[in-house]
Amino acid sequence: MNHYVNREIEYYTTSLLGKNFVFFPETISLLEIDNKLFELLKKGETYQNIVLPKEVLEIFEQYGRLNKTKSEETKLKQVTHFRGLTLDVTQECNMRCAYCYENSKEFDRLSRMDSETAKKAIIKLLKPDMDNQRRRLTFFGGEPLLNFDLIEMIVSYVEKMWPDRFSFGITTNATLIDTKIADFLTKKKFSVLVSLDGLERTQNILRPLKDSENSFIKTIHGIKLLNEKGLKPSIRCTSTSVNSDLSNFAEVFKELSIRKLYVAVVSTSNEHMIPESFELTSSYQKLYEYFRHKNGTFLGLVSSTAKKIESKEFSANCTAGRTMVTLASNGDVYICHRKVGVSSFFIGNVISNTFEEIVLTSKSKLNKLSSKIEECKNCWARNLCSGICMATIGLPEKHFRVYCEFVKKAIELSFVEVARKKSNSVPTTTGS
Ligand code: SF4
Ligand code: SF4
Repeated sequence: MNHYVNREIEYYTTSLLGKNFVFFPETISLLEIDNKLFELLKKGETYQNIVLPKEVLEIFEQYGRLNKTKSEETKLKQVTHFRGLTLDVTQECNMRCAYCYENSKEFDRLSRMDSETAKKAIIKLLKPDMDNQRRRLTFFGGEPLLNFDLIEMIVSYVEKMWPDRFSFGITTNATLIDTKIADFLTKKKFSVLVSLDGLERTQNILRPLKDSENSFIKTIHGIKLLNEKGLKPSIRCTSTSVNSDLSNFAEVFKELSIRKLYVAVVSTSNEHMIPESFELTSSYQKLYEYFRHKNGTFLGLVSSTAKKIESKEFSANCTAGRTMVTLASNGDVYICHRKVGVSSFFIGNVISNTFEEIVLTSKSKLNKLSSKIEECKNCWARNLCSGICMATIGLPEKHFRVYCEFVKKAIELSFVEVARKKSNSVPTTTGS
């Protein structure tokens, strides 16, 4: 790996799974290169003292030139409505996960959202009468299926008021899914994200049910019911020191139909629970290799990054507080779904504050939170990675290092993924 940058040119080279790459961060351009050029770039300590073939030099000048990419800073000025709303339909949960961030929040764990609060929030924050663009509702908790009646009611309300304008998502532990719920989620075309941390023993240690029943069996049963209806959920695995070896997932997924696997590094101030980055990244790579032969786009972060490279789409910082906000069960609005109950992320109340007040508060709080994120500015991955998650500010330094290594590994695997789909070797005039 070699990241070279001077005042005019920047590039990054890496070699993975038998392929060599040069990546130009400023223009999100990726080229697969041969061994000869890779060795040349590796040997030369700086771009200036390498003698490059003319056609290669031209490519470097075209893709590697720095022109100071602009920030997303001003986007909030134009906010007239939010595009997505996460509804914390209940704070209650039937699990007691070992790393649950909900435990540290200041609210009533039994509180449930009512339909009037949800409707007010949809109208005030999403303004669906304003235009014909689509809006998204994501149901979250606690365990949102503990308030399934409200979910059904809200879905039927928006479908009646604004037919075909809403899409739906839910993050669930899947243990409460029965035939009726599976049928509903399938018919309403929900994107379902199921939290699952590994095989039976691991899942039962990390995500035990409150009543001590086997949570793995219940979660797998819920997924199978969805599969029977034709719905393929995605999986979210929270990586900890207990389950940092992700290769187990190959076993789990043999008998299940899964769309994608998303991996997150556990958000905790307990350093012992944070996984070791080598174990996490090497098992992630193994999983990529395992699934590549079946379905190369299986790993969520690899596949979304590959798409960004192919379309040269710059990664904005996360959408929290910009295009998406979260509603707590009592009507309070927060920047991020993981920070409900945390005052630095609180941006108003849907009953007592106007839309404009909520947007202004969001902007000012985002500025404060983002100003703490300095380390990403010179990173070679900055235009593909959304940077440090605001929700993890204040966690141990180890968390950031592991997260960072993991993201970089996923981005490098996405290079392989792009190259796999398209062979473009240097010398050539084609960038990705
Ligand atoms: S989080 Fe890490 S990989 Fe992402 S931009 Fe920041 S330094 Fe780079
Ligand atoms: S702040 Fe972090 S957890 Fe919240 S939406 Fe953004 S990336 Fe996700």
